Amino acid sequence: MLGGTFDPIHLGHLAIASEVCAELGLDQVLLVPANGQPFKEGMEAASPAHRLAMCRLVAEDDERLAVSPVDIERGGTTYTVDTLMDLRAQRPDAELFFITGADALARLDEWREPERLTELATFVGVTRPGHSLVRLEWPHVLVEAPELAISSTDVRRRVRNGRPIRYLVPRRVAEYIAEHGLYDGGLDD
Ligand code: NAP
Repeated sequence: MLGGTFDPIHLGHLAIASEVCAELGLDQVLLVPANGQPFKEGMEAASPAHRLAMCRLVAEDDERLAVSPVDIERGGTTYTVDTLMDLRAQRPDAELFFITGADALARLDEWREPERLTELATFVGVTRPGHSLVRLEWPHVLVEAPELAISSTDVRRRVRNGRPIRYLVPRRVAEYIAEHGLYDGGLDD
């Protein structure tokens, strides 16, 4: 699974999903939009329903991708330990991998129930060129993926300022943002 606020999902997210899928020979990468990310409380600009809809559009165009609304349906603050327990209950035979930026992996001890997390899934840290990793105490695998200098914050800012987002997000996501007037006067950080 690749969890994220996905506000909005962009080509940087998809590049890491694609690379990890190929590198580890995964059957599928499940995009799991967070309801409320604990470190970004109150900062989301688009509603969970819009963020989920954009992920679904993306998955329709790539057979390696699927989307789970598990975090949005549970509601409240999204803790990855709950996500992984719910996914495990839904897919008891699946081997789960949690894909995340290597920076986030280095801060896993600040997440809820870190020991439990690493029992529920294999943690995959995506390394970015130029970032050195501190020693990690928990089991993990590292995958190097191309770094695209794209951030959701920049995409939102561009929309608000009338700048192009084509080639930063998938075409259908750009169309969805325009159609629903997302990020026009949205929150920024
Ligand atoms: P996000 O900003 O939407 O990004 C999703 C993932 O894509 C992150 O791992 C991010 O790594 C990576 N990414 C973003 N832009 C990229 C680019 N241009 N190139 C390569 N990688 C890129 O996600 P988020 O809001 O940080 O949340 C990530 C997940 O962690 C969610 O499932 C969330 O619920 C979970 N989380 C859980 C806890 C907890 O349980 N206590 C706490 C925090 C987060 P970077 O983060 O390195 O940008």
